[in-house]
Amino acid sequence: MLFEKLGSKECGPSYEDDFHNMSSLDQEMQNFEAELFSPARLRKHIDIALLQIEKYLSDTSLRGLKLTPPQKLIDDVKSLMSMADNSSQHSEYEVNEQLLDKMIELYIQTGIQVHSTGYMGRQFSGVMPLAGVIDFISSIINQPSSFYEAAQLPNVVEHLMAEELNQFIGWQADTYAMVTTSGGSLANLTAILAARNDKYPLFWKQGINGLEGKRPAILVGADAHYSMARAAGIIGIGDEHIIRLPNNAQQQIDTNQIPTILSQAKQDGLDVFCLVASAGTTSVGAFDQLNEIADITEQHNIWLHVDAAHGGSLLVSDHLRQKLAGIDRVDSFTWDLHKTMFVPAMCTLLFYKNKVKSYSAFQQDASYVFEKKQDIYTAFDSAEQNFECTKRPLIMNFWMLWTLYGRRVFSKKLEYLCELTQQAFQLIQLQDDFTTLHKPECNILCFRYTPSNQDQCAFDDFQVAIRNQLKVDGKFFISKVEIHQESALRVVFMNHKIRISHVNLLLEEIRRIGQMLITTE
Ligand SMILES: *Cc1c(COP(=O)(O)O)cnc(C)c1O
Repeated sequence: MLFEKLGSKECGPSYEDDFHNMSSLDQEMQNFEAELFSPARLRKHIDIALLQIEKYLSDTSLRGLKLTPPQKLIDDVKSLMSMADNSSQHSEYEVNEQLLDKMIELYIQTGIQVHSTGYMGRQFSGVMPLAGVIDFISSIINQPSSFYEAAQLPNVVEHLMAEELNQFIGWQADTYAMVTTSGGSLANLTAILAARNDKYPLFWKQGINGLEGKRPAILVGADAHYSMARAAGIIGIGDEHIIRLPNNAQQQIDTNQIPTILSQAKQDGLDVFCLVASAGTTSVGAFDQLNEIADITEQHNIWLHVDAAHGGSLLVSDHLRQKLAGIDRVDSFTWDLHKTMFVPAMCTLLFYKNKVKSYSAFQQDASYVFEKKQDIYTAFDSAEQNFECTKRPLIMNFWMLWTLYGRRVFSKKLEYLCELTQQAFQLIQLQDDFTTLHKPECNILCFRYTPSNQDQCAFDDFQVAIRNQLKVDGKFFISKVEIHQESALRVVFMNHKIRISHVNLLLEEIRRIGQMLITTE
C-alpha cells in the first residue's frame, strides 16, 4: 500500500525510479570497493613501496641529511600534485603508479638517513625493518588501543609486556602499572600530573583554590629535558617554582646539595612535591644516582620521577643495567622505546611503582575508577590512565620483535653502541686539536674541535658553524649542544653499522671544514 502511494504520479518519482537510482549507486559503490580496497591492487602498491625500501636499506653510502631549501621542496610537491591532475587514468579511482613511486622516492630522499653510517645526530633510530611491517598492519587494521573492546590484543599485550619488562625492575606482581603514551614528553607530563594530584588531592576539582595557600614546587636536574619545564608550566606550577639542581663533575645531579636546597625552598615558603631525575640526560647521556636521590625523596615524602626516555633501555642489558640501580625505588619513570629500542616513533612506556597512583593523573580521586563497575573486559582499558582517547596500538611493534628475536637482539645492539662510544671517546682524547667534555656513560658523546690556530674566544660560534656546514655537505648528520654554557658537537650512536673508522672520517671532515672556515673568515 505504501509503495503504491509513493509510486503514484502525484507523489513525485516512482518507486521504480528510486530502485533504478539505488541500483546505479550500488554499482558505483561496488566499483569504489573494487578499485580502492582490492587486495590485488594493494599488492601492486606494496611492491612499488618495497622496491624503494629495498633500495634505501641496501644503500651503504655515507650520508646524513640532504638539506633541501623549503622552496625547492614546495616546487617538487606542487609538480607531483599537478602530475596527479593531468594523469590519464583508465578509471576514476585508478592510482597513477608512476606518481606513487615518485612520491615515495621524494619522501625517502628528503629524510634524515637514519640507516646510514653518516647519521650520528639524534636519538631516533634506524628501526628494525620488521617493526615497519607490523606498523603497516596496525595502520590497515586500525585498532585504537585505549579501550579493550577496540584493541583486544594490544591491551592484553601491554599487560604482558609490563610483566616481561618488570623482570628488570623487580616490583612485586600486581602492585605496579605501565601505560603506553605517544612520546616521552607526554609521559613526563602525565607523571608529574599524577604527582601533583597525589600531593594536592583537591587540585583536580578546585584548581589553584584547592592548594589551600601552598606553593607547589618541583626540583629538576640542571640538564633535565625541556619537556619537564613545559610540563610544569602546563600543570600550573609556574616557571619560578621549578628549582634546578646543580650538577656534579660527572654531570649528574649533585646529591650532596639536595638537602640544603630543600630546606632553602621550605624557608622560601615553597612546597616541593616532586623531584625529576634523569637516566640518560639528553645532552650528554648522564645517569643520576637514583639510590642516593631516593634516600632523600623517601625521607621527605617527595614523588620521584625519572626521565629515562633515552636510557631506560639499558635495563635489558645485564652489563649496563647497573646504571639504573635504584629504579625499583622511584614512583614513576618514562622510557622511550622509539629511541634506543629501535622501533619507529611513537612508543613510550610510563611505569608507576604504585598501580593505584597510575589513576591519579586524570582522576581527582583514585578510588573512583575502582568503585565503578569494571568487568573483565574494561579492567584492561587504559583510557583513564592516558591522555589520548584514540591511541595507536603502540606496543605491537615492540612486542613482536621481542617475541620473535628475544631480548638479546636489543642488548647486543645497545652494548655495541655503548662500547663504540667508549672507543670514540678514546680516539678523540688522542687528538691534540679536539677536546672531550665528559666521560660517556651510554651512546652519547660531546666534544669540541679546538685547533690552536683558532681564537679561543670564538670557539662557541666555531662549533655551531662546523655543525651547520656538515649538515649542508650531507655526509654526516650530528647535533650540537650547550654544556656549561659552551657550544659543543654531539654525536649519538644509534646505528650498529657504525665503526670507529667512520668516527675517524667524521673527525677528518670536521677538521677539513673547521680549517676551511678559519681560512675563509
Ligand atoms: C627524547 C627525550 C625526551 C622527549 O621524548 P619524546 O619521545 O621525544 O617526546 C624526554 N626526555 C629525555 C631525557 C629525552 O632524551
